[in-house]
Formats: sequence, structure tokens, C-alpha cells
Amino acid sequence: MKKLYIQTYGCQMNQYDSERIAQVMGRMGYVPTEQIESADLILLNTCSVRDRAEQKVYSALGRWKDLKQQRPGLIIGVGGCVAQQEGETLLNRVPHLDLVFGTHNVHKLPHLVEEVLISRSRPVETAFYRDPSYMEDPEGRARVQGAKAFVTIMQGCDKVCSFCIVPHVRGREVSRPSAKIIDEIRALAQQGVKEVMLLGQNVNSYGKTSPGEISFAALLSRVNEIKSLDRIRFTTSHPQDLSPELIEAIATLDKLCEHLHLPVQSGSDSVLARMRRGYTRADYLVRIRQLKSRCPDVSLSTDIIVGFPGESDDDFTATLELLRQLEYDEIFSFMYSPRTQTVSAKLYEDDIREEVKKERLQRVLNLQRGISLRKNKQRIGAVEEVLIDGESKLKNGQMTGRTRANRIVNVVGVEALIGSVVPVQITGAMPNSLIGELVTAAPVFNSQIEGEMA
Ligand code: SAM
Repeated sequence: MKKLYIQTYGCQMNQYDSERIAQVMGRMGYVPTEQIESADLILLNTCSVRDRAEQKVYSALGRWKDLKQQRPGLIIGVGGCVAQQEGETLLNRVPHLDLVFGTHNVHKLPHLVEEVLISRSRPVETAFYRDPSYMEDPEGRARVQGAKAFVTIMQGCDKVCSFCIVPHVRGREVSRPSAKIIDEIRALAQQGVKEVMLLGQNVNSYGKTSPGEISFAALLSRVNEIKSLDRIRFTTSHPQDLSPELIEAIATLDKLCEHLHLPVQSGSDSVLARMRRGYTRADYLVRIRQLKSRCPDVSLSTDIIVGFPGESDDDFTATLELLRQLEYDEIFSFMYSPRTQTVSAKLYEDDIREEVKKERLQRVLNLQRGISLRKNKQRIGAVEEVLIDGESKLKNGQMTGRTRANRIVNVVGVEALIGSVVPVQITGAMPNSLIGELVTAAPVFNSQIEGEMA
């Protein structure tokens, strides 16, 4: 039996792609292994959104050179965003690399591996497709482990954010047909999956480039009808596409979790304009007000970039003020890193010094730590519905799970609860997680798997 080792960098979309990679290669007889030394095929699924993504890839490939020397039959491939961006350059720079496949080409992987095996050629496949069928597996999705599953509903992005590499490495927006998405989720629910996370770079513009397709809010409403599913989440949304219809869906669909990740990036209008985000601070605040007036308990998270070119002290202060005003439940903050091919890298000098970027990042993190802790403390005493995921990272015998509002809860419990939705009384709070006690040992929020319909 041939063994496949996959190393995944980056976002949930890459994790989903790695699952697909394992599935398509499984049909060629490859079984996944955790031991890189025993692998016959090593695939690196890469991300290039931030930081030193390319260097990270080259150094991983450098580390694997010895493995290739020891076992010349070993095949090494690179996929994902860096593969899409670098293409042939990767092969030229890394002589022991065998193949490169881009973000739209997971389905081609078996052919590429076969080419290497048969002719020892070094194939590169980085074509983009507008027809969404490249995202479908003719044999459907393999069984998934656990109670949660990612489901990609679209790829690419048609926004023009000046800092973002995504449109360059994932292409224009392409939405999967809603019927395929519904079929996939229905099959997952029948296997016992309780929660799906709908994935895309800009999920709330789902369907806009597919004539006749339903809207994102309508898709959510169809998913909500799938009987044995308990929870629906989605990420990422763009503020421009937060429509009244989507707000109504969040307010009314019982399975849709009360949580919205809505990246704002900056609180300064001049930075937002240079980022080409397509909204002002005031526009963003109006959207949040509309959302909160219909869904007062919705939990909010966001992304922040500090140190964007030209970000003055006043611009940065405006971001801190926005964080104080909106009191997000959680934020993800990053230091700006110029990405080749992007407009901001071409137009603006990366003029904020590294120490200033670091200091601003730290100030954002400190501020948010206080806000998150205060908000988490407000939950003490409440009974929350928690989907138990597995053992806590703290390795203290506790189980961990998430509330509908996406807060992590560590709870003393038994392993048998993994995959169940249980009521948990919150007894303690930390900045990034809650502590709780099981209210009853029996899962009470579980739906039935029988009588599936959608
Ligand atoms: N679709 C999302 C949006 O609304 O823009 C982008 C998703 S991106 C994969 C995740 C986050 O990475 C972005 O929201 C942004 O905060 C950050 N990011 C993207 N490009 C970046 C860059 N060049 N430098 C620093 N952070 C970046």
C-alpha cells in the first residue's frame, strides 16, 4: 500500500482542499500517513496570504531533500496558493520537486502523479476554470470523521482589495451549484455531521456570477431545512455584501449560529480607501447597526491589518477607537505584508517600520484581550449550548467545544460526549475561552438523523 503525507498551511479552505487531495489520491491506492519518513508521496498544500509564505515553502522543501536522496522513488509535490503563484519557478528552484498543482487543479492530481510515475516528467498544472465543475468530485465526498465539516461553496474573489493576493491565486469568483452543495450537506448530515461551515473568500456574494443561481441567504435557508443538521456557520463575509436579506436570515434561521465574522481591516477612512475596501468607517457602522437592531445578541469577530502603507498614528488611533466602540467578541490581527502582484505592493512603499508594526499589533491585542475577557465574564452563570469537539488543548482531562456564538468552552466531561450538543453552565472566563460544567450528562440538543428531507 502506498502512503501519502500531506502538510497543510493556511486557512480552512486549504484544510478542505487537503481532504479532497486525500480523497482523490485514495482512489489511486494512497493511504494517509502521519509519518513523513514512510511516505511514497509528500504533498505540501500552501497559503500565500501573509508573511513569508514563499520562504516557508522553500525551507520545507529544503528539509525534504534528504528524504528524496534516501528514497529516489519518493514523489514530492506542491499545491495551493504558492504553487499557483510560483508555478514553474518552484520546479526551477527546487530540483528534487516533482510536480506543481494550482488551486483549481486538485482533480488533476492523479494524472499528474501518474505522469511522474510513468515518464518521470515534472508536470505543472495551474490553469483557472470558470466552470464550477472542477470543484465537484464525480464520486461524491468521502465519509468524514467527527461532528463538524467544512463545505466549500465558492472559490475566488471579485473584490479588488489592494493588499490581497486571493484574486491572483484563487481566481475570479466561481460558485458551486446550490443543488450540489445541498446534496453534499444532506449526505454529511446523514453520516452524523452536526455542524457545517460554509467556506468561500466572500461567501455573501455567493451566486452573483452564476446566472439563475439562488442568493447566499436563500442557500442558507435551504441548508436550514436539512433535518438532522444542528448548526450552520459561514466564513468569510465582505461588509459590502451584508444585505438586508442576509441579516434577516441570521435573525430567523434557527440553525444558523449567531456569529458573524466581518473583516473591517481598519478604522481609518483614508486607509480603507487605499485598501480599496469599497466602504467607509461610517458605512461599516451602519451595516453593524442594521444587523444589531435585528439580531441584538449576534457575536461579532473581525480581521485587522496594522501597518498598512501610510498608516499614521491618527489612522491607527481610529482603528483602536473602532475596536472600543464595537467591542468585538474576537479579532484576528495581522501586520501588513506586501504580496507581489497586488496593487498595494505596486503602488505604495511598505513604509511602516517593523518595530512600529509590532508595537501596533501588540496594542491591538492588549486592547482586545481586555474587551474579550470582560465580554466572556458576562457569560458566567449562563447555560450555553455547546457542541463538544474533542479533548481540550490544555490536556487536563477536559473536553472542549464551541457555543453557538463561537466561544470556546472547556468542560469536564467524558469522551463519549464528543460529537454531541450539550447544555453547559458557564463557571469561569478567560480572554480566549470559557470554563463550564455539564448541566446533564445526556445530550439534549441532538436532532434525529432519521426521516431526512430538505
Ligand atoms: N475575504 C476576506 C476579506 O474580507 O478581505 C479575506 C480573507 S484573508 C484570507 C484573511 C485576512 O488576512 C484578511 O481579512 C486580512 O486581514 C489578512 N490579510 C490579507 N492580506 C494581507 C496582507 N497582505 N498583509 C496582512 N494581512 C493580510
